[in-house]
Amino acid sequence: MPNMPTLYPGDSRPDPSGNESLEKRDKTYILHPFTPIGEWENESPMVIAGGEGSRIFDDQGNAYLDGTSSLWVNLLGHRHPAIDRAIQEQMEKIAHSTFLGLTHEGGIRLAEELALRAPGNLQRVFYSDNGSTAVEIALKLAFLLRRKDHPEARRFFSLERAYHGDTLGAVGVGGINRFHAPFYPLAHESLKAPAPDCFRCPLGLSRDRCSIDCADVAVRTIRRHGPELAAVILEPRLQAAGGMIVWPEGYLTRVSQATQEEGVPLILDEVATGFGRTGALFACELEGIVPDFLCAGKGLTGGYLPLAVTLFSEGTYRRLKEDPGIFYHGHSYTANPLAVAAARATLRELEKGRHIPEIPRKRIIFEKLERKLKNLPFVGNIRSIGLVFACDVFADATRKHPANRETMTGIERRAQSLGLIVRPLTNTLYLIPPLSISFDDLILMGDILTESIRGSSPNPAG
Ligand SMILES: *Cc1c(COP(=O)(O)O)cnc(C)c1O
Repeated sequence: MPNMPTLYPGDSRPDPSGNESLEKRDKTYILHPFTPIGEWENESPMVIAGGEGSRIFDDQGNAYLDGTSSLWVNLLGHRHPAIDRAIQEQMEKIAHSTFLGLTHEGGIRLAEELALRAPGNLQRVFYSDNGSTAVEIALKLAFLLRRKDHPEARRFFSLERAYHGDTLGAVGVGGINRFHAPFYPLAHESLKAPAPDCFRCPLGLSRDRCSIDCADVAVRTIRRHGPELAAVILEPRLQAAGGMIVWPEGYLTRVSQATQEEGVPLILDEVATGFGRTGALFACELEGIVPDFLCAGKGLTGGYLPLAVTLFSEGTYRRLKEDPGIFYHGHSYTANPLAVAAARATLRELEKGRHIPEIPRKRIIFEKLERKLKNLPFVGNIRSIGLVFACDVFADATRKHPANRETMTGIERRAQSLGLIVRPLTNTLYLIPPLSISFDDLILMGDILTESIRGSSPNPAG
């Protein structure tokens, strides 16, 4: 007998006729990320067939506003003519060649363009292909630097409810128990302090003292463990995956001062916050902070192709050149030329389109939305930064108990049926539209969000 693979009940072999529905084939061959497996199997998935501007279309011809920017990556809308063209033009030359020991014009020019726009002295770039790898690279480089003077420094400091990606180094500094705790036995778990979540303060601090008292806890930990620390890693001003935690102003400044005093490298993970989402090109610029390492990804290519960068200073570069003289880290698709072309076009359009300067005017729509949501008894903790808006949904009018998964899924479905894609994070609902969204579409997003919550509340009011 030849060695036959074991077939389980329900197993099927590829159907060469191609007559099966897409849904059936999806469920036969795919495991989806961050998706409850059983629920997926029992539901009809939405099959995305296209997109245009702030909308995506399913294969039934329905249009939906992209309320998550396709999970925080899309910056200037789908099928942006200039980005499309840049990729097509690059395709005429070459789709990919290695960056190990070779270089290419696009990679060089993008590095220069990033150096011109990056905060402070961050003029060197190490390319990779996703946010998690950009973080791994920063962790490794920080460790290499720090061990020169502090051979015992091998711990990282990060925040509870932090999210830095899903590779094991990133999981070690991650702090979302649901996602990360199962893998801690495999990871290098960091030292942690509470996230500065003024609404849901785990320390019971008063809201107006949050940036001071909460920062004190982090600062004390950093001081106490300074010599052991290889780096401090933070998501400046907005912990997105951790529940759209908008930091109080000043927290970043205080913690960053402590890292400077201790000489501990500061890594800022701007994978979610970079390229304008928070109202500045990079969130650290809101407080004039320049980190030792800045990680960016997601919006870098306008949400078109996987590309990420880890930025650092010339001083860091020189020290690495001295010792170890080579960085044993790289990815097959480092600085992929198609992705680089998309990133260069995105940067050009971002500046031309005045998308960032327009954010304060768009935030007036958020203010109106906040006033409407405040009338709903089950909604609270309304917060926003830049073009990111979030609120929490509760099980009752005391706003103490978070709404359950069923309620949140109900809201998500209702939003979909009204033409808006949202993806709740536990009981948090948020909007992260493309920066290019029109004023009318932004108003519509807010209206649908409100309507979806109202229609799903056990006791609709207002
Ligand atoms: C999404 C995200 C990452 C991981 O990026 P991937 O491209 O998904 O690997 C890292 N850090 C932050 C802050 C993120 O939001």
